[in-house]
Formats: sequence, C-alpha cells, structure tokens
Amino acid sequence: MTKKTGNLILIGMIAGAIAGVLGGLYIGDFFLNIKFIGTIFLNALKMVVVPLIVASMIVGVTSLGNISKLGKTTGKTLLYYLVTTGFSVIIGLILVNIIKPGIGVESFGAYVPEIVAESQQKTLIDVIVGLIPSNIIEAAAEGGVLPLIVFSLLFGGVLTTIGEKGKPVIAFFEGLNAAIMKLVTIIIYFAPIGVMALIGGIVAENRGSVNELVSGLAFYTLTVIIGLLVHALIILPIILHIFTGRKPVDYFLGMGQALATAFTTASSSATLPITMECTEINNKVDPKASSFVLPLGATINMDGTALYEAVAALFIAQIYGIDLSVGSQIVIFLTATLASIGAAGIPHAGTVTMVFVLTAVGLPLEGIGLIWAIDWFLDRCRTTVNVWGDSVGAAVIEKTKEFRS
Ligand code: ASP
Repeated sequence: MTKKTGNLILIGMIAGAIAGVLGGLYIGDFFLNIKFIGTIFLNALKMVVVPLIVASMIVGVTSLGNISKLGKTTGKTLLYYLVTTGFSVIIGLILVNIIKPGIGVESFGAYVPEIVAESQQKTLIDVIVGLIPSNIIEAAAEGGVLPLIVFSLLFGGVLTTIGEKGKPVIAFFEGLNAAIMKLVTIIIYFAPIGVMALIGGIVAENRGSVNELVSGLAFYTLTVIIGLLVHALIILPIILHIFTGRKPVDYFLGMGQALATAFTTASSSATLPITMECTEINNKVDPKASSFVLPLGATINMDGTALYEAVAALFIAQIYGIDLSVGSQIVIFLTATLASIGAAGIPHAGTVTMVFVLTAVGLPLEGIGLIWAIDWFLDRCRTTVNVWGDSVGAAVIEKTKEFRS
C-alpha cells in the first residue's frame, strides 16, 4: 500500500468514525441494522490474530538467531512495559487526587454488573499455570493469546537449536507470516466502512447513557481522559524521542490506522494485525523487534487500562466517602499495574480485573455499577492508549543492543 493510499484510508476511517457518531445519535435504528457490517470487519481482524501471533513470534524469535538474546530482549521488553505502566498509574493517581471527581456524587443505583459477577477472578497462581496450555488448539480456539505466545517463544527458540532440520520449518513460518500480513493489508481497505458501522452501532446502542457523560460522571470521565492524554501525548512521546530520536508526530500519524481501529474495536488483540502493519510498514520498525514486542504488548502492556483502574478505584472511594491513606494508594498503584497486566486485550477486560484492585483496598464491588454506564466509551479511549504504548515500545526495543547487532 502506498503512503497516499494509507493516508486516504486513515482519512476515511476518521470520516467513518464521525459519521458513525452522528448517525448513531440521530438515525440510530438504521445503524443498528447495519451493525453487522462492522461485525464482519471485526471478525476479519480476529480471524488473522491467531496465525499472525504464532507466525510472527516464531519468525521474530528465530531471526534473533541466538537463544541467549531472547532472554535479554524479553527482560528489557518487560521492563519497558512495567516502567511505562507505572508512569501512567502515577499520572492517574495525581489527577484523581487533585480533581476529586467523586466528591458530591451520589452512590444511588450501585450494583455489580453481570460481566463482573460472572467472571471468575484468577489468582496469580492460576495465571502462571495458564501460561502453559495443556492443549494448544483449545487455547487458540478460546482466544487465549498468552499461552500461544509462550508456545511460540519456546517453539521458535528450539527451532534455532536444531540446525538444518529447523530451516524448512522456519521458512514455512516466514511464508505464513508474509501471507497473513498481505491479508491484513486487504482487510485495511475495508476499515473506513467497518469503523463507521461499528461506531454507529455502539453509539446507537448507548444513546441513553450519553447523558452520563455530561452529568454526575462528567468529572470522572474528564479525569480519565486528561490522564490518558497526558500519558499519550507527553510522556510516551518524550520516551519515544529520547530513546529512538524519532519524531513523535510522524510516528503517531504512522500509527493512525491502528489507533482508529483500537478506538473502534476496544480490543488490543483485534487491533494487533493493524498495529503490526502500521509499525512495520508506515513507521519502518524492524519486524524482528515488532513481531516480538507487539503481540506480547497487546496482552500485557496496558498503560491506559492501568491509569483507568487507578482513577476508577479512587473515584469509587470518593463517592462512598472512604478516605484512602497513602498506604492504600500504594496498594492501588501495585494492584492496578498487575490488574492491567492480567486483563486480556478484549472489550471491558480492564473493568472486570478491577475487582482485584477494589478487593485489595476493601472498596465495595458495587462501585463498578456506578461507572459501568460509560465503560463502553472509556474502554475505547484506554484501548487506544494501550495500542499507542505498545507501538512506542516496539520502536524503543528496536534500539536495544540485541537488535542493533
Ligand atoms: N479493552 C482493553 C484492551 O483491549 C482492555 C480493557 O478493558 O481495559 O486493551
């Protein structure tokens, strides 16, 4: 795809999003009828996620060429994720303490949303055990991205150690990877119409809760959004520039299609194919780095989600008049970071793992019911920041010693 076509598609996606919002508000019924077009677009993205993760990670790992490099790269990548997520939580905590959006808001109508009540919160041990899938096909079918990543890392790692016998297998995955990326390029052509239909449908479905954005939850929404903007437009660009020397504005524009898709789908995993395309093709990040950093990031690096969870927890505490000590806020800092790592890259996952944060500091789970009405909107905003954080990570890790040599 040429740069010009890419730009046209991006403009189409933005126009599609605006048309979707207006159409969803004013001719909602029509958009409810054409929502299926958006579902087709979403399914097409999800369709390529599993083969893409397996093929690109295996190609990425084998191209490192040396298993000891893999350990170092993984360590540095995880460090980048933890540090940037930590920054975002701190921004959220500072803002929510200054703005205090929950003071004076009624706790009327609090309840535990179904999706939260039905979720079985996993302990840390469950998460660790789940990293090794007992059945790789089942894990893939259930959309379990993390077990697939672990399998691909191990598989790619050993492929480099078996000499000649490994070469045709590596060549197979290289071919598979190239073919999947070609499919992704084709899917992107349908993005403008897909975005319009998805946004139109979601706005039409949530027309009733739009009032919430401007009523009791307005300051809360504003706090989350200001925090996300500070992190996305100040902190991450500074990190990008310091470590890579790249121009943040150009890099941001290069990621445009992926960011618009993240906003539309509220899913880092579904966006992953487009994130990879934008990072590698538009921003020319070495695929060796991105094919490794991006799949991992889509499931465990969620700066936006961590910030959101910290703000939401304190907002709920403020509504219930519970004064949280500095100690409790440190617990929120740690648990929000962990809960964002544990959240899957799918819609509302962060709201479900928030149970972990609320329980840790003794806040009522019913508080989630107070913010549920606008989660459809804030989920999109935080997912966009999650994807932006991943893409900055790919450029930063590309500059590490392991990839330069
Ligand atoms: N929807 C988010 C994502 O896919 C996760 C969340 O709910 O915060 O990145």
